[in-house]
Amino acid sequence: MGRAFVYVILGGGVAAGYAALEFTRRGISHRELCIISEEPVAPYERPALSKGFLLPEAPARLPSFHTCVGTNEERLTPKWYKEHGIELVLATRVKSADVRRKTLLTATGETISYKILIIATGARSLQLEEFGVNGSNAENVCYLRNVDDATRLVNVMQSSSGGNAVVIGGGYIGMECAASLVINKVNVTMVFPEAHCMARLFTPKIAGYYEDLYKAKGVKFIKGTVLSSFEKDSNGKNFVTKVDNLQHKIACAGSLLGVPCVVTDVVLRDGTNLPADMVVVGIGIRPNTSLFEGQLTLEKGGIKVNGKMQTSNTSVYAVGDVAAFPVKLFGETRRLEHVDSARKSARHAVAAIMDPGKTGDFDYLPFFYSRVFSLSWQFYGDNVGEIVHYGDFSGSTFGAYWVNKGQLVGSFLEGGTKEEYEAIAKATKLKPVIKDVADLERQGLSFAISVSRQPQPLPMPPPVPIHGDSLELDKPLYAWNATAGVVVAASIAAFAYWYGRRRRVW
Ligand SMILES: Cc1cc2nc3c(=O)[nH]c(=O)nc-3n(C[C@H](O)[C@H](O)[C@H](O)COP(=O)(O)OP(=O)(O)OC[C@H]3O[C@@H](n4cnc5c(N)ncnc54)[C@H](O)[C@@H]3O)c2cc1C
Repeated sequence: MGRAFVYVILGGGVAAGYAALEFTRRGISHRELCIISEEPVAPYERPALSKGFLLPEAPARLPSFHTCVGTNEERLTPKWYKEHGIELVLATRVKSADVRRKTLLTATGETISYKILIIATGARSLQLEEFGVNGSNAENVCYLRNVDDATRLVNVMQSSSGGNAVVIGGGYIGMECAASLVINKVNVTMVFPEAHCMARLFTPKIAGYYEDLYKAKGVKFIKGTVLSSFEKDSNGKNFVTKVDNLQHKIACAGSLLGVPCVVTDVVLRDGTNLPADMVVVGIGIRPNTSLFEGQLTLEKGGIKVNGKMQTSNTSVYAVGDVAAFPVKLFGETRRLEHVDSARKSARHAVAAIMDPGKTGDFDYLPFFYSRVFSLSWQFYGDNVGEIVHYGDFSGSTFGAYWVNKGQLVGSFLEGGTKEEYEAIAKATKLKPVIKDVADLERQGLSFAISVSRQPQPLPMPPPVPIHGDSLELDKPLYAWNATAGVVVAASIAAFAYWYGRRRRVW
């Protein structure tokens, strides 16, 4: 028993939605494309879950944030998929894959075969149990990866209003959830092992700015330690506020047997005991590669692809969080966990599948962003090398550059205008040579602005070599390539900024 399709997208998240739109724009026939997702809803803009979805007033709810509203494009509702003849197989988990036979086996026992497969399985939240702590099944312990998680988080948050939340983890999820909890009138303590928040991206100075703002909003930080265990109550959260050892053991045994229990306290490795009405866990993600281990080449924890997003099997492509792809700008393979990369890699894979002759290698400028309270930052490129801070850290606009091997490779900006974000994106893409970092520090944001304003001649076609004099042609050809590069960089920067602007809504 089974069905056959020309194209199958495995996974129904951000990348799947953007790939579907690209397929229809390039022209597919009805019943050629199938999307299989374990989630019960059509693809949606996942970043909305930690932002608009958690607002106390007028929160975002589906169908308002189905892809591709994050880039101000069509909103792909279930009706849209139906009208375009795309088979949406929802609430269906694929439990095994055979890339040699080109088949997927679903948990419902159906075999779905394909000619071309796009893997868009994204990632899952890391669980506390993977770090030796039990308690993920407690009623008031929340993760945040999908709509079900977000709905649960909202319910727990509403019942904890005026109470205490402990947020485990100081990354994206931790920071965005902490801000939402504060807005929902829950007292927040953040716990993480690093010396400062957003340790993978922020410098201590940048982190200090955000931590000070959070502190002013009442958030407490406990750094340099980790969660060691929970104290739990299996009888309901208000029945017993503290449990003795015996009750604790009974509660834990109950939870092992499937009886729900409630966390009452968070115990840290340094011995601190934090009373908690709820806990939010944001300790990282793990790409969903397991179906393909032993069948496809893996790298950097993801499925390795080439510049066309094609895996080690020519009929299989991988996109989004699960894909490890060559980032031309850095000259190395990276796996990114950001929405912009999911959207663009998905579109690129479809272009490479449908129009291979006209599709070059994916040339991507990494772009991350976040919004918390009234703040908003954007980052482009890579955060390696020497750090040069600029701007007014006691005000509202500041940033940093990263200079590696004499070139600007990364730029961060908080509180920028449209033109300023556009400028840092463009400057980063161009990787200008930095001779004097002290001068870069003095110039600050105006450096990126001046790079972005440098005159750029209109692109011209390369001269045709009539007499084959390659020496004569070297210069103009180089100049054209450079110009075209600048123009491409500028349009990529503008596009990236535009994406960023649109995503502010979500
Ligand atoms: C709460 C939250 C907030 C975020 N905010 C931001 C942000 O502000 N900025 C930013 O840049 N990025 C943000 N991100 C990251 C961004 O959402 C991801 O990078 C993006 O969703 C990746 O898209 P994807 O399609 O690769 O994976 P996903 O969107 O995760 O989709 C993967 C899909 O595959 C399904 N799936 C997996 N395995 C199977 C299987 N075996 N069978 C069937 N279906 C399967 C999953 O259920 C899921 O539907 C956020 C992420 C989260 C969770």
